[in-house]
Order: sequence, then C-alpha cells, then structure tokens
Amino acid sequence: MNPKTVFCPHEDCVARGHIGKGNITIHSKKEKRYRCKECGRTFSERKGSALYRLHRPAEMMVTVLKLLSHGCPIPAIVAAYELDERTIADWQQKSGQHAKAVHETLVEQPREHKQVQSDELRLKIFSAVLWIAMSITPVSRLWLGAEVSHTRGRNLITSMIKRTSRCCKGTVLLVTDGLVTYIKAVKKAFSISEGGKGKTGRPRLIFPQTIFLAQVVKSYSSKGKRYVCHGVHKCLCCFGSFVQIGMALKNSTGGLLNTACIERFNATLRQSIAGFARKSRYLFHKQEMVESAVYWVGTCYNFCTVHRSLSSQLPTTPAMAAGITDHLWSVKELLEYKVRPQPWVFKGRGRRSKKTLERIKKWATF
Ligand SMILES: [Zn+2]
Repeated sequence: MNPKTVFCPHEDCVARGHIGKGNITIHSKKEKRYRCKECGRTFSERKGSALYRLHRPAEMMVTVLKLLSHGCPIPAIVAAYELDERTIADWQQKSGQHAKAVHETLVEQPREHKQVQSDELRLKIFSAVLWIAMSITPVSRLWLGAEVSHTRGRNLITSMIKRTSRCCKGTVLLVTDGLVTYIKAVKKAFSISEGGKGKTGRPRLIFPQTIFLAQVVKSYSSKGKRYVCHGVHKCLCCFGSFVQIGMALKNSTGGLLNTACIERFNATLRQSIAGFARKSRYLFHKQEMVESAVYWVGTCYNFCTVHRSLSSQLPTTPAMAAGITDHLWSVKELLEYKVRPQPWVFKGRGRRSKKTLERIKKWATF
C-alpha cells in the first residue's frame, strides 16, 4: 500500500483526484483502506475500479470476463463455474461501464488520426432490433467508441460523430458508407463557433477546411432473400474536393477508399460477443447490456489485444500504436485502472478570503 500513488475518489472532496499531495494516509493495512485528510473519510483500495465490492476472488472475475470477450455465452460459464447467472450479468454490466469510463478518459482526447472509418451494425435482440454506430481509425486500428439506438436515425449518427470528433485534431478524412445522414452530422459535430462573446445573436458556425468526408457506395445484388456485396460502386466527395481527399488518403493509408477496417471490426464484434452471432438463439434483452458488452470488447481490443498488422517485431496494441500507453495491458490491469475525477471548482461568489484563495491555489488544478 502506497498512499503517494492514491487519490481521494469522493466527488464532493476538494482534494479529489490529486496524487502525491500528502492528503492520503493509510487507515487500515488489514482491510486495505486509505483515509483522506481533507474530507476525513476513508475509502477502500479498490474504490473507483471495476473490482470494487467484489465478493469473489478477482482472478475469477478476470477469467469470466475474458471468456465473455471471446464469445462465450453466459449459460456456458454458469455450467462450468457454478456461478449465478445474475452475478455474471452484473459483472458484464459493471465491466462495460468501467470500460466506457476508461475509454472516455484515455481514448477520447484530441489526437491526429488522419483517417477515420464509420459504419453501423444491425443487431437483433429479444423482440427488437438495435443499431450500433461505430468508428475506427485504420492507421493505428484504434476503436473510437460506439453509440447504440433502436433506430438508424439522425440522433444515432450525430452522437457517434460527436464522439469521434472529440478524438480528432488536425486533418481528418472521414470515410463512411452511403448513408445521407452523415453529411449533416459531420457538419454539426465538426463546426466551430466563431466570435460570440459581446456580440448580438448566435455565434456563426464555421466548418474547418481540414475535415474531409468521402462516402463509399457499395453495389449489391439479391440472391433470393440474401444480399451479396460486389464491392465499391462509386465514391462521393461530400466535404473537400477530389484532389484534397486523394491527398488525405495518400497521407493516411494510401490505396483505395473503402470502409474495410470498420467492417472487419464489425466481424470481430460478431465473433467476440455471444449475443452478436447471426441466427443465434442466444439474444440480448436490454439495450444497456448491449452497450456494456460493446464497450468491454472494444476497450479490450484497444488495450489488451495484440494487433498482428501493426508491428511484426514488438507486440503492439492499437492503444500503443496511437501513443496512449507504452505497454500491453492485462485484463486485470484494465479492471483495476481508476479514472481520476475532475479537479474541484470553487463556486462561491463575492470577495474571496485568504484561506479560500490558498485552497483554490492548492486544489483547483492538477
Ligand atoms: Zn477527500
């Protein structure tokens, strides 16, 4: 136990998120609890991780989650480990929420990805259909997050593109399928407001000249009830000229415009989550469980899976290729990772006392 590497996780504490400022002491070595001097409260070593309040051994949860992320259905784990079905479902949901928080903290930071591919996945769940919109960058194979909805409408696409825009900076070439909703969604998510303060009216939104959108329209033929894809039929340049998109493509991956990477990731999801298999009798019941499963598999893919196409010498994960981390994470490391809360903000009004100014200086920034 080292209090210098721990931060106070309480949301209402002024010292929340600060490491090595001397406010944390050991409360109990036996129970593995720390104490924060600022708020006076104690907290467990596991608080903030996915292992918090776990009654079973951590190794068992790690094994079960590894099985779940390799397409093992819950009834098989129940039969093998004699665990309750609800326990496994609870672990799946907890790990998914934890993975989403880790994703939003570490992956959703502005980085130069050069090219991003987006696509939607149709999923049949119990008595309904869900649509999952996702993005991936083909350069580092980093998965940029997902949104889940009952309809493949404007809200789904806009929220997914907004999530993608938080991960990007500089020149970005977006490659999507031929869905027309992407054009307005990209314009809305990437536009920057100009001026505003001190002027009347709404600030003008300006679309940056460094964002390009190309749409790939595929050709299909029907064989009875099945649709067979024959490849790219035509490419549409929605934002940016033909030459600009060609240059952006040459600077990122080269080759031809396609959405092959995201479609390959769709296949990875279908094989890694039991409820995603086609024509299966094992179906998800709730939208939240689908989101948890997607985020768990996506974050494991980013941090814990070696990607063969990235490097032939060193084992490289997408997060390593994107510069987020310098090593391969184990599943236990991912579960134990604690997301730091945002620093405390002083919300009082009027003249500030000397004591308040000292507190602001010490705790308001990391
Ligand atoms: Zn505290």
